[in-house]
Amino acid sequence: MDITGQVERLLKQKTVDIFLGYRDFCGHLIPHGYTLDNLEDLDNLKTSSVRYSLEKVATHLAEKNPDLKIGLIARDCTERALNVLYTWNQLKSEKIETIDVNCCPSRTREHADCSLLEPKKTGNFKQKNGIDFNADPQDFMAENDNGERFSRWMYEFSKCIKCYGCRNICPVCFCPDCSLENPDLVEPGFLPPEIPIFHLVRAVHMAGRCVDCGLCEDACPAEIPLRFLYRQMNDIVEQVFGYIPGKSIEKSPFTIIGDKVTLEPKPMDA
Ligand code: SF4
Ligand code: SF4
Ligand code: SF4
Repeated sequence: MDITGQVERLLKQKTVDIFLGYRDFCGHLIPHGYTLDNLEDLDNLKTSSVRYSLEKVATHLAEKNPDLKIGLIARDCTERALNVLYTWNQLKSEKIETIDVNCCPSRTREHADCSLLEPKKTGNFKQKNGIDFNADPQDFMAENDNGERFSRWMYEFSKCIKCYGCRNICPVCFCPDCSLENPDLVEPGFLPPEIPIFHLVRAVHMAGRCVDCGLCEDACPAEIPLRFLYRQMNDIVEQVFGYIPGKSIEKSPFTIIGDKVTLEPKPMDA
């Protein structure tokens, strides 16, 4: 059965109350909620060649109506983000149905790498002064000393226009009161936002959450290699805790219950 047929069946059998996919709008593909009341819209259902954090839309819907049964188109990165959202109690797995779409023709990393849909190019100036989108974090560490790394990151951060696009698109940025809008941390009315604090605050918050979907980097109008930054953060989390966000629904080392961390750091090698 094709995907449209599967969605129709999910809706008619009331397995889901709403199904999140895409539709064409003035030549652009935008997220769209399909329901029993607009079944005729399914003729316009689109599923490929586009990425958006539909799981974030699901989180907002579930916040308003926790009993809503939600279906959505899911890529590999969507599944990882959903696992993080279940872990952090932002969604209930029993209320979510996914229809998986294959997105990546080849795999260069452990999980599907959606940047393969649209490989990023790094211009000469950025290569000289900033950070190559496609650099390997370990090579970057080896090839640049502390001062060089700091200078390259400060160049990248200085381009930030504080549009919040990275946070807004991120499927695992779900805090009702975002620290990045706390005037004690990030003074309003100035550009760029205080660097590197603005970016380090978000990077620390992504520890144990970021699923390496790359949507933030795609959204960033300043071409800051955000994915690269959070990948470095996740490498540390994996080394210290043996934890890979989104790999499965498991306790996170950063989920605090009472005053206890739920995963202990791995013993360090002698
Ligand atoms: S890659 Fe960016 S958008 Fe995706 S989960 Fe990580 S921080 Fe969020
Ligand atoms: S940037 Fe930090 S505080 Fe803001 S929504 Fe994301 S995780 Fe929450
Ligand atoms: S999307 Fe880019 S420019 Fe916008 S706030 Fe995030 S880092 Fe800054």
